[in-house]
Amino acid sequence: MQNLVGKVAVITGAGGGIGAALAHMFAREGMRIVISDVDEQAARSTAADIVAGGSEAISARVDVSRHEDLDALADLAWSRFGSVDILCNNAGIVPSGRYRPIWEFPLEDWRWAFDVNLMGVVHGLRSFIPRMIAQNTEGHVVTTASVAGLVSGSGSAVYSASKHAAVRVTEALYASLQEIGSPIGVTLLCPGLVNTNIYNSERNRPSSLLPEQGIAEETAELQSIADSLYRDAISPDDVANMVLKAVRERRFYLLTSDNFDEPLRERFEAILARRNPQFSKLLDLSKGDIGEKDA
Ligand code: NAD
Repeated sequence: MQNLVGKVAVITGAGGGIGAALAHMFAREGMRIVISDVDEQAARSTAADIVAGGSEAISARVDVSRHEDLDALADLAWSRFGSVDILCNNAGIVPSGRYRPIWEFPLEDWRWAFDVNLMGVVHGLRSFIPRMIAQNTEGHVVTTASVAGLVSGSGSAVYSASKHAAVRVTEALYASLQEIGSPIGVTLLCPGLVNTNIYNSERNRPSSLLPEQGIAEETAELQSIADSLYRDAISPDDVANMVLKAVRERRFYLLTSDNFDEPLRERFEAILARRNPQFSKLLDLSKGDIGEKDA
């Protein structure tokens, strides 16, 4: 998509972080913006900032794990602005206590991560894509997955599994749109580390999904490593600018850094060689391995 002026962007999880940066970036390009977030106050505040900057924006409380909320968001966007040209399925969470063996994660962590990180994307597609196709205009869909959805290993396994699934869903979206000759482009955004509030995702966990044993705490040592990793990471605005370029170029795979290319290559080479995996080069906070610091 080249000309964004006057077009409409809908963004989930836009109360902060990457979603808010996407909203500001598209507003600067002259788009009208529909901000949504499970944190209503945060969504309102992003919209108010955009309006204060002279652009048009509205906000809504949307929990992406509820398909009804995405249907209502689509109704709101079309009734208010008459079209939707860019959809960013961006909302996501990371349950804390992520470095432990796969069999020890509570079921509530699995449910929460898959409800938001996978079903949030699925709900977005179901509520918006048929109507975007019916518009028969150029458009674009951005899924915020993660580099964690491409590489593998023991760390952060629940989050990563949900992101692997989001990657697969987004590849299927791209393939299906190609098959019907749709003018809607797709970008699979796979960030490495970005300086946002993602490490404090527990603030958004629904009370119905609190594990019986309580929320796992990261150790103070891990927390401090993570704090410095995120502080030194690239900014959400940098990511938003990369997304703008990808939308303009109709680029599908968007990795924000090449720091994970080696584990990615190792994984696929092992699969193709029918060799057992090494998973040696992954960011592993539990071992204090910050070798991939700039991801
Ligand atoms: P963030 O926590 O700053 O922003 C996430 C936003 O999503 C918040 O405003 C939060 O309120 C909202 N949200 C949470 N649960 C929601 C729900 N159920 N429904 C609607 N909104 C909800 O973190 P971020 O880094 O900006 O995260 C954006 C996306 O980027 C996520 O999908 C995340 O997995 C992905 N990502 C982030 C990083 C990183 O290092 N920050 C790396 C890779 C991928």
